[in-house]
Amino acid sequence: MNISPHHLPRFFKAINTELDSNADEIIGLDQAIGDGDHLTNLQRGLKAVQKIEVELSEMNWSDALMKIGMTLMSTMGGASGSLFGSFFLAMSKAAKGKTMDAQHLAAMFDAGVSSVKQRGKADIGEKTMLDSLIPACESLKQDVATNQDLAVTVANLKQAAEKGMLSTEAMVATKGRASFLGERARGHLDAGARTSQLIISVIADEVIHIQNEN
Ligand code: ADP
Ligand code: MG
Repeated sequence: MNISPHHLPRFFKAINTELDSNADEIIGLDQAIGDGDHLTNLQRGLKAVQKIEVELSEMNWSDALMKIGMTLMSTMGGASGSLFGSFFLAMSKAAKGKTMDAQHLAAMFDAGVSSVKQRGKADIGEKTMLDSLIPACESLKQDVATNQDLAVTVANLKQAAEKGMLSTEAMVATKGRASFLGERARGHLDAGARTSQLIISVIADEVIHIQNEN
């Protein structure tokens, strides 16, 4: 894998475009079972990291991920701000002194997901972003462990995230604002699961584009 922090602006731009094109859906989801601010929170955080993207692209992975996490934490707000923030801070810790190969990336992602679980005191099946993150991470770890081809790994990862995201529709929430609604939360996708899945999916696509250019 030939991914470096120099690619960060590309990732941010792709994420931005993806969130914009799904804006109405995302806002609608958080309005239905939350307070409707999830997309705005996310876009505020993304804008703040895009502001410093040149600086970030000159850093090593660990420092860049740390700065991204701190920036998200201080700008996003909402439950998701501290959760996304701690995801990147944990990735940063795991990236210290490491090159970005598939093994290390899987271990970093795993560290990020574990820290979201810890901070949110949540796990799979609670109708949160973790329902996209955990299956995606498990798929990635499994394919990396079996030395699966990159294109297959990415396709499986995207599929696992999407399946996990879709599974939130039938769930009642036991964490976050939606948990106050009890049974009324059933029948709606979780906004954070949807945005996490969209972000995973565009990053995965971008990684493939970058590999194909080399
Ligand atoms: P808020 O709920 O404070 O308005 P956001 O709207 O930005 O924050 O984010 C809501 C999303 O955060 C939810 O859709 C859910 O995916 C995620 N979330 C909320 N609480 C938790 C938690 N304890 N663990 C994991 N994710 C959570
Ligand atoms: Mg909200």
